[in-house]
Amino acid sequence: MGLQGDASGEDCDSSAAGGDDLLLRLRSFKSDYFPLHQQRFQDLVAEGQHPTTLFIGCSDSRLLPYLLTGAGPGELFLVRNVGAFVPPYDGSYGHHGTAAAIEFAVLSLQVGHIIVCGHSHCGAIKALYEEVPAEANNLRRWLDLGRDAALPVVPTPDALRRTEQRAVVLQLERLMDYPMVRRRVVAGQISLHGWHCVIEDGEVHVFDVQSGRFVAASVATHSGTGPYHPYVEHDGQVLSDENP
Ligand SMILES: [Zn+2]
Repeated sequence: MGLQGDASGEDCDSSAAGGDDLLLRLRSFKSDYFPLHQQRFQDLVAEGQHPTTLFIGCSDSRLLPYLLTGAGPGELFLVRNVGAFVPPYDGSYGHHGTAAAIEFAVLSLQVGHIIVCGHSHCGAIKALYEEVPAEANNLRRWLDLGRDAALPVVPTPDALRRTEQRAVVLQLERLMDYPMVRRRVVAGQISLHGWHCVIEDGEVHVFDVQSGRFVAASVATHSGTGPYHPYVEHDGQVLSDENP
């Protein structure tokens, strides 16, 4: 696989790893990466974590939050799930790690930024247009959180891209139903960021609430949704679809 284990030293004996690639990678973390950041990790233990950003991203293996944001240890409070969805605040969907993480990040960690990050070729978004396996009861119900983003069309690549972006906006709307989020956004204490990462281009497109469009980060003037008030007044409509 990708990483070459450092077989030097008694703690990194690849022969004892028995071809266990993950074990070699764990050893590599300890021997190669950790020494470079040891002080940072120890400070984070001594002083506790104070991440500035809650990152809600799709679980897709091609989406790389730390690389996209250039973040190091202690900077991102990270939640990932199928589709980068935000469950409703009212708890009607049962136990939710994502909802609990939002409350913890806002009330206890007092983050200043919340990012919702979807991406191109998202399997969750594609699944909105398909049958899911009969046995996947949890997945089917979870996908309900994205259904309002689906379009009444054949899922062409363009329609899927638009659905992915609409889903990001939908999750931002649902995020604003969390009272502790809404209060802080209105007070200017939290910035919301709606991102769509085009994996094959290495480009993140940033939702701008005033234009209702996603703008490539390479030409965008900011990474956030911008002022919130026009968005509130829009009564829950998905702006990105109305201002193509
Ligand atoms: Zn995805």
